[in-house]
Amino acid sequence: MESSTDIIYVDNNATTRLAPEVVEAMTPFLTTWYGNPSSPHPFGNEAAKAIVHAREAIATLLGAEPEEIIFTSCGSESDSTAIRSALETQRGRRRVLTTAVEHAAVLNLCKYLQHNGLHVDYLPVDSQGRINLEQAKALINDDTAIVSCMWANNEIGNIYPVEALGQLAHAHGALFHVDAVQAVGKIPINLKDSSIDFLSLSGHKLHAPKGIGVLYRRRFTPFQPYLIGGHQESGQRAGTENVASIAGLGRAAELAMAHMDEEQSRVRAMRDRLEAGLVASCPDPLVNGDRQSRLPNTLNICFRYIEGESILLRLYETAHICASSGSACTSGSLEPSHVLRALGLDYRSLHGSVRFSLSRYNTDAEIDTILQVTPGIIRSLRELSPFGRL
Ligand SMILES: *Cc1c(COP(=O)(O)O)cnc(C)c1O
Repeated sequence: MESSTDIIYVDNNATTRLAPEVVEAMTPFLTTWYGNPSSPHPFGNEAAKAIVHAREAIATLLGAEPEEIIFTSCGSESDSTAIRSALETQRGRRRVLTTAVEHAAVLNLCKYLQHNGLHVDYLPVDSQGRINLEQAKALINDDTAIVSCMWANNEIGNIYPVEALGQLAHAHGALFHVDAVQAVGKIPINLKDSSIDFLSLSGHKLHAPKGIGVLYRRRFTPFQPYLIGGHQESGQRAGTENVASIAGLGRAAELAMAHMDEEQSRVRAMRDRLEAGLVASCPDPLVNGDRQSRLPNTLNICFRYIEGESILLRLYETAHICASSGSACTSGSLEPSHVLRALGLDYRSLHGSVRFSLSRYNTDAEIDTILQVTPGIIRSLRELSPFGRL
């Protein structure tokens, strides 16, 4: 690859570029201030101060208190910690309720738990990816330890009614966890007086580095740490803090606050223009997800009779466009994504999906380029398809 500057990056639900301000906030802790935040000397204290500052910035972004923020290594660790903790602190309860469209970080943990004798229910979704709260209500009872639902889906962008679901969980004394990895920074979040006990987020989905995450734990929510060892994070998560990445995540949280309106206006307008343009110019388009309740940056669109993987290859060859078919975790295998399968798509559409996920670093000129090249790619691939000319 020549350089990354001529890339049109529209795969932001897989990961995001580091904001330059984030790199700037991190650099001192990778170079000059390398002290251990637990050390009693002033040198270590510089690192400790950076963590205090970052914790406050993240609490502000979430409408939470700094004491409710636990730094972890990634979104997956936060998800695992929350669900395992709920099962350990409520040992009498043997049920988990989640959805069929969760990220692998939750789904594969749940499969593992089932393997170990717990009962897990997976809420189905309708053809637009929506859950049914009545169905959820029927599946929660006094044996439910935790309900876990994503705030927003990484593949189709659906936003789920987490507040209402949390109230259903609490009505039976169950805890409520939200995987908000895709929601944080894209839609406003306020955890004050919410029904959410645990919430996960991940740095690399909001222009901070890979390998840093947060678990929000509501004050007084019973908790059992996952990593046991040193007294870091008030004894809630052992391991010397990833100071530079924490400082970077704090800066990313401040930037997310500052850019929230832009996400809802300029990014949404670019996504809507891309969607309308592709729907108008490509044969047989099918937009996936709930267009009434969807992240402002995400477009998942199916083109019948052709392979999403072939579209991606051509998009890259033609104009260095980086998009995704399904999610980064499921592509690589040729299995259609579990999310698209849960929507009940027919087999002709199942393989032909492309996800464009934008960020504030995208430009209108990039959207123009995608709109110029995509229709031709779709038409020529359909010419090659044995079914496409039917
Ligand atoms: C990316 C992602 C995760 C995993 O986060 P990591 O930091 O990569 O472990 C979990 N849930 C959702 C919805 C995601 O998009």
